[in-house]
Amino acid sequence: MSEHMQLFTDSLNRFLDQEVAPHYQQWEKDGIIPRDVWRAFGQAGFLCVDVDEAYGGCAGDFTLSALVVKVLSQRGFAALATNVSVHSDIVTPYISHLGSEAQKQYWLPKLVSGEAVGAIAMTEPGAGSDLQAIRTQAISCDDGYRISGQKTFITNGQHADVCIVAAKTDPQAGAKGISLFLLDKTAKGYQVGSNLEKIGQHSGDTSELFFDEVICADTLGVKNQGFRHLMEELPRERLILSVCAMGACSGMLDWTVDYTKDRQLFGQSLAQLQNTRFTLAQLDTQISVNWAYVESCIDRYQKGELDAVSASKAKLSSTELQCKVADDCLQLFGGYGYMQEYPIARAFLDARVQRIYGGASEVMKEIIARGLLK
Ligand SMILES: Cc1cc2nc3c(=O)[nH]c(=O)nc-3n(C[C@H](O)[C@H](O)[C@H](O)COP(=O)(O)OP(=O)(O)OC[C@H]3O[C@@H](n4cnc5c(N)ncnc54)[C@H](O)[C@@H]3O)c2cc1C
Repeated sequence: MSEHMQLFTDSLNRFLDQEVAPHYQQWEKDGIIPRDVWRAFGQAGFLCVDVDEAYGGCAGDFTLSALVVKVLSQRGFAALATNVSVHSDIVTPYISHLGSEAQKQYWLPKLVSGEAVGAIAMTEPGAGSDLQAIRTQAISCDDGYRISGQKTFITNGQHADVCIVAAKTDPQAGAKGISLFLLDKTAKGYQVGSNLEKIGQHSGDTSELFFDEVICADTLGVKNQGFRHLMEELPRERLILSVCAMGACSGMLDWTVDYTKDRQLFGQSLAQLQNTRFTLAQLDTQISVNWAYVESCIDRYQKGELDAVSASKAKLSSTELQCKVADDCLQLFGGYGYMQEYPIARAFLDARVQRIYGGASEVMKEIIARGLLK
Protein backbone atom coordinates (compact mmCIF):
# COMPACT_ATOMS: atom_id res chain seq x y z
CA MET A 1 0.00 0.00 0.00
CA SER A 2 1.34 3.45 -0.93
CA GLU A 3 1.97 6.04 1.79
CA HIS A 4 -1.02 8.04 0.53
CA MET A 5 -3.32 4.99 0.75
CA GLN A 6 -2.01 4.19 4.24
CA LEU A 7 -2.71 7.74 5.45
CA PHE A 8 -6.17 7.59 3.89
CA THR A 9 -6.87 4.24 5.61
CA ASP A 10 -5.65 5.55 8.97
CA SER A 11 -7.85 8.61 8.71
CA LEU A 12 -10.86 6.50 7.67
CA ASN A 13 -10.29 4.16 10.62
CA ARG A 14 -10.10 7.13 13.01
CA PHE A 15 -13.36 8.45 11.57
CA LEU A 16 -15.00 5.05 12.00
CA ASP A 17 -13.72 4.78 15.59
CA GLN A 18 -15.31 8.12 16.46
CA GLU A 19 -18.42 8.38 14.32
CA VAL A 20 -19.51 4.82 13.60
CA ALA A 21 -18.24 2.15 16.02
CA PRO A 22 -19.84 3.60 19.18
CA HIS A 23 -23.27 3.81 17.49
CA TYR A 24 -23.39 0.93 15.02
CA GLN A 25 -25.13 -1.56 17.30
CA GLN A 26 -27.86 0.99 18.02
CA TRP A 27 -28.32 1.70 14.31
CA GLU A 28 -28.68 -2.02 13.72
CA LYS A 29 -31.45 -2.06 16.34
CA ASP A 30 -33.06 1.03 14.80
CA GLY A 31 -32.97 -0.56 11.34
CA ILE A 32 -31.44 2.53 9.75
CA ILE A 33 -28.49 4.87 10.03
CA PRO A 34 -29.27 8.48 10.95
CA ARG A 35 -29.39 10.84 7.97
CA ASP A 36 -26.63 13.09 9.35
CA VAL A 37 -24.12 10.21 9.15
CA TRP A 38 -24.14 10.76 5.39
CA ARG A 39 -23.14 14.39 5.86
CA ALA A 40 -20.39 13.41 8.31
CA PHE A 41 -19.04 10.90 5.78
CA GLY A 42 -19.16 13.51 3.02
CA GLN A 43 -17.53 16.22 5.10
CA ALA A 44 -14.74 13.85 6.11
CA GLY A 45 -14.12 13.20 2.39
CA PHE A 46 -15.08 9.52 2.21
CA LEU A 47 -17.96 9.67 -0.31
CA CYS A 48 -17.54 9.47 -4.09
CA VAL A 49 -13.78 9.92 -3.82
CA ASP A 50 -13.21 9.40 -7.54
CA VAL A 51 -15.43 12.26 -8.68
CA ASP A 52 -13.65 15.06 -10.56
CA GLU A 53 -12.60 18.17 -8.65
CA ALA A 54 -14.83 20.25 -10.96
CA TYR A 55 -17.83 18.61 -9.26
CA GLY A 56 -16.53 18.83 -5.71
CA GLY A 57 -14.71 15.49 -5.62
CA CYS A 58 -11.05 14.82 -4.91
CA ALA A 59 -10.35 13.09 -8.24
CA GLY A 60 -9.03 9.98 -6.56
CA ASP A 61 -9.28 6.73 -8.46
CA PHE A 62 -11.43 3.63 -8.05
CA THR A 63 -8.77 2.03 -5.84
CA LEU A 64 -9.46 4.69 -3.22
CA SER A 65 -13.23 4.29 -3.48
CA ALA A 66 -12.83 0.52 -3.18
CA LEU A 67 -10.64 1.04 -0.12
CA VAL A 68 -13.48 2.85 1.70
CA VAL A 69 -15.85 -0.07 1.10
CA LYS A 70 -13.20 -2.66 1.95
CA VAL A 71 -12.42 -1.03 5.30
CA LEU A 72 -16.11 -0.65 6.20
CA SER A 73 -16.66 -4.34 5.47
CA GLN A 74 -13.49 -5.41 7.25
CA ARG A 75 -14.63 -3.55 10.38
CA GLY A 76 -17.94 -5.44 10.27
CA PHE A 77 -20.11 -2.51 9.14
CA ALA A 78 -21.63 -4.44 6.26
CA ALA A 79 -24.88 -2.51 5.97
CA LEU A 80 -23.01 0.76 5.88
CA ALA A 81 -20.64 -0.66 3.27
CA THR A 82 -23.64 -1.56 1.10
CA ASN A 83 -25.25 1.86 1.55
CA VAL A 84 -22.03 3.70 0.76
CA SER A 85 -21.11 1.48 -2.19
CA VAL A 86 -24.54 1.99 -3.80
CA HIS A 87 -24.16 5.76 -3.32
CA SER A 88 -20.49 6.17 -4.28
CA ASP A 89 -19.78 3.27 -6.60
CA ILE A 90 -23.05 2.65 -8.39
CA VAL A 91 -25.30 5.73 -8.46
CA THR A 92 -22.55 8.34 -8.78
CA PRO A 93 -20.74 6.63 -11.70
CA TYR A 94 -24.03 6.45 -13.63
CA ILE A 95 -24.41 10.21 -13.26
CA SER A 96 -20.70 10.85 -14.00
CA HIS A 97 -20.74 8.64 -17.10
CA LEU A 98 -24.23 9.27 -18.50
CA GLY A 99 -25.38 12.57 -17.04
CA SER A 100 -25.74 15.83 -18.95
CA GLU A 101 -23.51 18.69 -17.80
CA ALA A 102 -26.49 20.21 -15.95
CA GLN A 103 -27.30 16.91 -14.19
CA LYS A 104 -23.66 16.48 -13.16
CA GLN A 105 -23.36 20.03 -11.87
CA TYR A 106 -26.57 19.72 -9.91
CA TRP A 107 -26.17 16.28 -8.34
CA LEU A 108 -22.47 15.36 -8.10
CA PRO A 109 -21.38 18.03 -5.56
CA LYS A 110 -24.36 17.11 -3.39
CA LEU A 111 -23.54 13.39 -3.56
CA VAL A 112 -19.89 14.08 -2.71
CA SER A 113 -20.77 16.21 0.33
CA GLY A 114 -23.50 13.89 1.58
CA GLU A 115 -26.08 16.64 1.18
CA ALA A 116 -27.86 14.23 -1.18
CA VAL A 117 -28.06 10.44 -0.93
CA GLY A 118 -28.35 8.31 -4.07
CA ALA A 119 -30.29 5.14 -4.88
CA ILE A 120 -30.89 3.05 -7.96
CA ALA A 121 -34.23 1.34 -8.58
CA MET A 122 -34.34 -1.48 -11.06
CA THR A 123 -35.98 -4.33 -9.12
CA GLU A 124 -39.76 -4.69 -8.93
CA PRO A 125 -41.93 -7.20 -7.11
CA GLY A 126 -42.30 -9.15 -10.36
CA ALA A 127 -38.88 -8.55 -11.89
CA GLY A 128 -35.46 -8.99 -10.29
CA SER A 129 -33.03 -11.16 -12.24
CA ASP A 130 -35.28 -10.84 -15.28
CA LEU A 131 -34.94 -7.09 -15.64
CA GLN A 132 -36.59 -6.98 -19.03
CA ALA A 133 -39.86 -7.85 -17.30
CA ILE A 134 -40.11 -4.55 -15.39
CA ARG A 135 -43.52 -2.91 -15.57
CA THR A 136 -42.83 0.62 -14.39
CA GLN A 137 -43.79 2.80 -17.34
CA ALA A 138 -42.71 6.23 -18.48
CA ILE A 139 -45.17 7.77 -20.87
CA SER A 140 -44.13 10.78 -22.90
CA CYS A 141 -46.02 14.00 -22.02
CA ASP A 142 -45.62 17.77 -22.54
CA ASP A 143 -43.34 18.14 -19.49
CA GLY A 144 -41.16 15.11 -20.25
CA TYR A 145 -42.42 11.75 -18.97
CA ARG A 146 -45.12 10.60 -16.60
CA ILE A 147 -43.73 7.68 -14.56
CA SER A 148 -45.92 5.13 -12.78
CA GLY A 149 -44.94 1.90 -11.10
CA GLN A 150 -43.45 0.22 -8.07
CA LYS A 151 -39.93 -0.78 -7.06
CA THR A 152 -38.76 -2.94 -4.20
CA PHE A 153 -35.60 -3.85 -2.24
CA ILE A 154 -34.11 -0.43 -2.99
CA THR A 155 -30.95 0.28 -0.98
CA ASN A 156 -30.95 3.83 0.48
CA GLY A 157 -34.62 4.10 -0.46
CA GLN A 158 -35.56 5.88 2.78
CA HIS A 159 -32.79 8.47 2.71
CA ALA A 160 -32.31 8.89 -1.04
CA ASP A 161 -32.80 12.36 -2.49
CA VAL A 162 -32.12 11.20 -6.02
CA CYS A 163 -33.02 7.85 -7.50
CA ILE A 164 -32.06 6.39 -10.86
CA VAL A 165 -35.18 4.62 -12.04
CA ALA A 166 -35.41 2.06 -14.85
CA ALA A 167 -38.73 2.30 -16.67
CA LYS A 168 -40.28 1.10 -19.90
CA THR A 169 -40.49 3.81 -22.55
CA ASP A 170 -41.45 1.31 -25.25
CA PRO A 171 -43.21 -1.64 -23.59
CA GLN A 172 -43.34 -3.68 -26.81
CA ALA A 173 -39.57 -3.50 -27.42
CA GLY A 174 -38.34 -5.69 -24.51
CA ALA A 175 -34.82 -4.77 -23.40
CA LYS A 176 -34.66 -2.14 -26.14
CA GLY A 177 -37.61 -0.26 -24.63
CA ILE A 178 -36.08 0.57 -21.23
CA SER A 179 -34.83 4.04 -20.29
CA LEU A 180 -33.23 5.49 -17.17
CA PHE A 181 -34.54 8.52 -15.30
CA LEU A 182 -33.16 10.71 -12.54
CA LEU A 183 -35.97 11.19 -10.08
CA ASP A 184 -35.89 13.82 -7.38
CA LYS A 185 -37.48 12.61 -4.15
CA THR A 186 -39.44 15.87 -3.87
CA ALA A 187 -41.28 15.22 -7.15
CA LYS A 188 -45.06 14.96 -6.76
CA GLY A 189 -46.21 11.35 -6.76
CA TYR A 190 -42.85 9.96 -5.53
CA GLN A 191 -43.65 7.91 -2.44
CA VAL A 192 -41.26 6.08 -0.15
CA GLY A 193 -42.76 2.85 1.17
CA SER A 194 -41.74 0.83 4.17
CA ASN A 195 -38.18 0.16 5.28
CA LEU A 196 -38.11 -3.62 4.81
CA GLU A 197 -37.08 -5.90 7.66
CA LYS A 198 -34.19 -8.16 6.66
CA ILE A 199 -32.42 -11.10 8.28
CA GLY A 200 -29.11 -9.19 8.20
CA GLN A 201 -27.64 -5.78 7.33
CA HIS A 202 -30.36 -4.33 9.56
CA SER A 203 -29.14 -0.74 9.49
CA GLY A 204 -29.00 -0.70 5.71
CA ASP A 205 -32.22 0.90 4.60
CA THR A 206 -33.93 -1.25 1.96
CA SER A 207 -37.22 0.12 0.76
CA GLU A 208 -40.20 -0.03 -1.46
CA LEU A 209 -40.75 2.97 -3.74
CA PHE A 210 -43.97 3.95 -5.47
CA PHE A 211 -44.36 6.29 -8.42
CA ASP A 212 -47.78 7.71 -9.14
CA GLU A 213 -47.63 9.70 -12.37
CA VAL A 214 -44.38 11.37 -11.38
CA ILE A 215 -43.47 14.01 -13.96
CA CYS A 216 -39.80 13.81 -14.90
CA ALA A 217 -37.89 15.50 -17.71
CA ASP A 218 -34.54 14.09 -16.60
CA THR A 219 -33.69 11.07 -18.71
CA LEU A 220 -30.25 9.67 -17.89
CA GLY A 221 -28.33 8.58 -20.98
CA VAL A 222 -30.04 7.69 -24.23
CA LYS A 223 -33.76 6.96 -24.51
CA ASN A 224 -34.50 3.23 -24.91
CA GLN A 225 -30.83 2.40 -24.23
CA GLY A 226 -31.35 1.95 -20.49
CA PHE A 227 -30.71 -1.78 -20.56
CA ARG A 228 -27.43 -1.27 -22.43
CA HIS A 229 -26.43 1.42 -19.91
CA LEU A 230 -27.22 -0.97 -17.04
CA MET A 231 -25.11 -3.70 -18.64
CA GLU A 232 -22.21 -1.27 -19.10
CA GLU A 233 -22.25 -0.19 -15.46
CA LEU A 234 -22.79 -3.66 -13.96
CA PRO A 235 -19.10 -4.71 -13.99
CA ARG A 236 -18.25 -1.93 -11.53
CA GLU A 237 -21.26 -2.87 -9.36
CA ARG A 238 -20.15 -6.50 -9.29
CA LEU A 239 -16.56 -5.54 -8.65
CA ILE A 240 -17.45 -3.39 -5.65
CA LEU A 241 -19.57 -6.23 -4.24
CA SER A 242 -16.48 -8.45 -4.59
CA VAL A 243 -14.44 -5.87 -2.69
CA CYS A 244 -17.11 -5.82 0.05
CA ALA A 245 -16.91 -9.60 0.22
CA MET A 246 -13.13 -9.66 0.45
CA GLY A 247 -13.08 -6.97 3.15
CA ALA A 248 -15.60 -8.99 5.16
CA CYS A 249 -13.57 -12.19 4.69
CA SER A 250 -10.40 -10.63 6.01
CA GLY A 251 -12.22 -9.08 9.02
CA MET A 252 -13.86 -12.39 9.92
CA LEU A 253 -10.58 -14.26 9.66
CA ASP A 254 -8.80 -11.73 11.91
CA TRP A 255 -11.49 -11.99 14.61
CA THR A 256 -11.37 -15.78 14.45
CA VAL A 257 -7.58 -15.95 14.71
CA ASP A 258 -7.74 -13.76 17.84
CA TYR A 259 -10.60 -15.74 19.35
CA THR A 260 -9.03 -19.16 18.79
CA LYS A 261 -5.77 -18.02 20.37
CA ASP A 262 -7.65 -16.94 23.51
CA ARG A 263 -10.22 -19.69 23.87
CA GLN A 264 -9.03 -22.49 26.14
CA LEU A 265 -10.30 -26.06 25.94
CA PHE A 266 -8.84 -29.48 26.81
CA GLY A 267 -5.92 -27.71 28.50
CA GLN A 268 -4.81 -25.82 25.41
CA SER A 269 -5.94 -23.02 23.15
CA LEU A 270 -8.48 -23.69 20.39
CA ALA A 271 -5.79 -22.51 17.95
CA GLN A 272 -3.60 -25.45 18.88
CA LEU A 273 -6.07 -28.04 17.60
CA GLN A 274 -5.15 -29.27 14.15
CA ASN A 275 -8.65 -28.78 12.77
CA THR A 276 -8.51 -25.11 13.74
CA ARG A 277 -5.07 -24.62 12.20
CA PHE A 278 -6.07 -26.35 8.97
CA THR A 279 -9.37 -24.46 8.73
CA LEU A 280 -7.66 -21.10 9.26
CA ALA A 281 -4.84 -21.96 6.85
CA GLN A 282 -7.31 -23.05 4.20
CA LEU A 283 -9.41 -19.89 4.54
CA ASP A 284 -6.36 -17.63 4.56
CA THR A 285 -5.13 -19.25 1.36
CA GLN A 286 -8.50 -18.97 -0.38
CA ILE A 287 -8.83 -15.33 0.68
CA SER A 288 -5.35 -14.45 -0.61
CA VAL A 289 -5.89 -16.18 -3.94
CA ASN A 290 -9.33 -14.66 -4.42
CA TRP A 291 -8.13 -11.20 -3.42
CA ALA A 292 -5.39 -11.44 -6.05
CA TYR A 293 -8.06 -12.04 -8.69
CA VAL A 294 -10.21 -9.16 -7.43
CA GLU A 295 -7.16 -6.89 -7.44
CA SER A 296 -6.45 -7.85 -11.04
CA CYS A 297 -10.06 -6.89 -11.87
CA ILE A 298 -9.62 -3.55 -10.09
CA ASP A 299 -6.53 -2.98 -12.17
CA ARG A 300 -8.42 -3.82 -15.36
CA TYR A 301 -11.33 -1.59 -14.36
CA GLN A 302 -8.92 1.32 -13.91
CA LYS A 303 -7.63 0.74 -17.43
CA GLY A 304 -11.19 0.53 -18.81
CA GLU A 305 -10.67 -3.16 -19.62
CA LEU A 306 -12.90 -4.99 -17.14
CA ASP A 307 -15.33 -7.24 -19.04
CA ALA A 308 -18.67 -8.61 -17.84
CA VAL A 309 -17.41 -12.21 -17.55
CA SER A 310 -14.42 -11.33 -15.36
CA ALA A 311 -16.58 -9.12 -13.10
CA SER A 312 -19.07 -11.99 -12.79
CA LYS A 313 -16.28 -14.42 -11.86
CA ALA A 314 -15.07 -11.97 -9.20
CA LYS A 315 -18.57 -11.54 -7.76
CA LEU A 316 -19.37 -15.25 -7.85
CA SER A 317 -16.15 -16.45 -6.24
CA SER A 318 -15.84 -13.65 -3.66
CA THR A 319 -19.41 -13.76 -2.37
CA GLU A 320 -19.50 -17.57 -2.24
CA LEU A 321 -16.19 -17.46 -0.37
CA GLN A 322 -17.56 -14.83 2.03
CA CYS A 323 -20.42 -17.14 3.00
CA LYS A 324 -18.02 -20.07 3.46
CA VAL A 325 -15.65 -17.98 5.60
CA ALA A 326 -18.61 -16.76 7.69
CA ASP A 327 -19.81 -20.31 8.25
CA ASP A 328 -16.39 -21.85 8.99
CA CYS A 329 -15.36 -19.00 11.30
CA LEU A 330 -18.68 -19.02 13.16
CA GLN A 331 -18.19 -22.74 13.77
CA LEU A 332 -14.89 -22.03 15.52
CA PHE A 333 -16.62 -19.59 17.88
CA GLY A 334 -18.92 -22.39 19.04
CA GLY A 335 -22.03 -21.20 20.90
CA TYR A 336 -20.63 -17.68 21.16
CA GLY A 337 -20.74 -17.47 17.37
CA TYR A 338 -24.50 -17.86 17.59
CA MET A 339 -24.87 -14.92 19.97
CA GLN A 340 -25.90 -11.59 18.46
CA GLU A 341 -23.34 -9.67 20.49
CA TYR A 342 -20.46 -11.39 18.67
CA PRO A 343 -19.55 -9.64 15.39
CA ILE A 344 -19.13 -13.02 13.67
CA ALA A 345 -22.85 -13.74 14.18
CA ARG A 346 -23.77 -10.46 12.51
CA ALA A 347 -21.23 -11.04 9.72
CA PHE A 348 -22.75 -14.47 9.05
CA LEU A 349 -26.22 -12.97 8.56
CA ASP A 350 -24.93 -9.91 6.71
CA ALA A 351 -23.08 -12.10 4.21
CA ARG A 352 -26.00 -14.11 2.89
CA VAL A 353 -27.50 -11.46 0.63
CA GLN A 354 -24.23 -10.96 -1.21
CA ARG A 355 -24.96 -14.09 -3.25
CA ILE A 356 -28.34 -12.68 -4.27
CA TYR A 357 -28.21 -8.95 -5.04
CA GLY A 358 -26.26 -7.38 -7.88
CA GLY A 359 -27.01 -10.58 -9.83
CA ALA A 360 -27.54 -13.91 -8.07
CA SER A 361 -24.73 -16.50 -8.17
CA GLU A 362 -26.74 -18.50 -10.73
CA VAL A 363 -26.95 -15.45 -13.01
CA MET A 364 -23.17 -15.03 -12.66
CA LYS A 365 -22.70 -18.67 -13.68
CA GLU A 366 -24.93 -18.14 -16.73
CA ILE A 367 -22.85 -15.14 -17.84
CA ILE A 368 -19.60 -17.04 -17.32
CA ALA A 369 -20.95 -20.11 -19.16
CA ARG A 370 -22.18 -17.95 -22.04
CA GLY A 371 -18.68 -16.52 -22.34
CA LEU A 372 -17.19 -20.01 -22.36
CA LEU A 373 -19.61 -21.60 -24.79
CA LYS A 374 -20.20 -18.80 -27.27
C1 LIG B 1 -30.85 -6.22 0.71
C2 LIG B 1 -31.13 -6.05 -0.74
C3 LIG B 1 -30.75 -4.84 -1.36
C4 LIG B 1 -31.05 -4.66 -2.72
N1 LIG B 1 -30.76 -3.45 -3.30
C5 LIG B 1 -31.23 -3.19 -4.55
C6 LIG B 1 -31.11 -1.87 -5.11
O1 LIG B 1 -30.55 -0.96 -4.51
N2 LIG B 1 -31.65 -1.67 -6.34
C7 LIG B 1 -32.27 -2.65 -7.06
O2 LIG B 1 -32.74 -2.38 -8.16
N3 LIG B 1 -32.38 -3.90 -6.56
C8 LIG B 1 -31.89 -4.19 -5.32
N4 LIG B 1 -32.01 -5.43 -4.79
C9 LIG B 1 -32.67 -6.48 -5.56
C10 LIG B 1 -31.73 -7.59 -6.04
O3 LIG B 1 -30.85 -7.12 -7.02
C11 LIG B 1 -32.61 -8.76 -6.48
O4 LIG B 1 -33.16 -9.32 -5.30
C12 LIG B 1 -31.86 -9.80 -7.27
O5 LIG B 1 -31.52 -9.30 -8.52
C13 LIG B 1 -32.70 -11.09 -7.46
O6 LIG B 1 -33.97 -10.78 -7.94
P1 LIG B 1 -35.25 -11.39 -7.19
O7 LIG B 1 -35.12 -11.12 -5.75
O8 LIG B 1 -36.46 -10.89 -7.89
O9 LIG B 1 -35.13 -12.95 -7.39
P2 LIG B 1 -35.51 -13.81 -8.76
O10 LIG B 1 -35.15 -12.99 -9.92
O11 LIG B 1 -36.93 -14.19 -8.58
O12 LIG B 1 -34.56 -15.01 -8.59
C14 LIG B 1 -34.75 -15.99 -7.55
C15 LIG B 1 -33.65 -17.02 -7.67
O13 LIG B 1 -33.76 -17.68 -8.92
C16 LIG B 1 -32.49 -18.12 -9.34
N5 LIG B 1 -32.22 -17.56 -10.69
C17 LIG B 1 -32.45 -16.32 -11.12
N6 LIG B 1 -32.07 -16.18 -12.39
C18 LIG B 1 -31.58 -17.36 -12.78
C19 LIG B 1 -31.01 -17.86 -14.00
N7 LIG B 1 -30.86 -17.08 -15.07
N8 LIG B 1 -30.62 -19.17 -14.02
C20 LIG B 1 -30.77 -19.97 -12.96
N9 LIG B 1 -31.28 -19.56 -11.78
C21 LIG B 1 -31.68 -18.27 -11.70
C22 LIG B 1 -31.48 -17.59 -8.33
O14 LIG B 1 -31.20 -18.59 -7.38
C23 LIG B 1 -32.23 -16.45 -7.66
O15 LIG B 1 -31.76 -16.17 -6.36
C24 LIG B 1 -31.69 -5.68 -3.45
C25 LIG B 1 -32.02 -6.88 -2.82
C26 LIG B 1 -31.77 -7.07 -1.49
C27 LIG B 1 -32.19 -8.36 -0.84
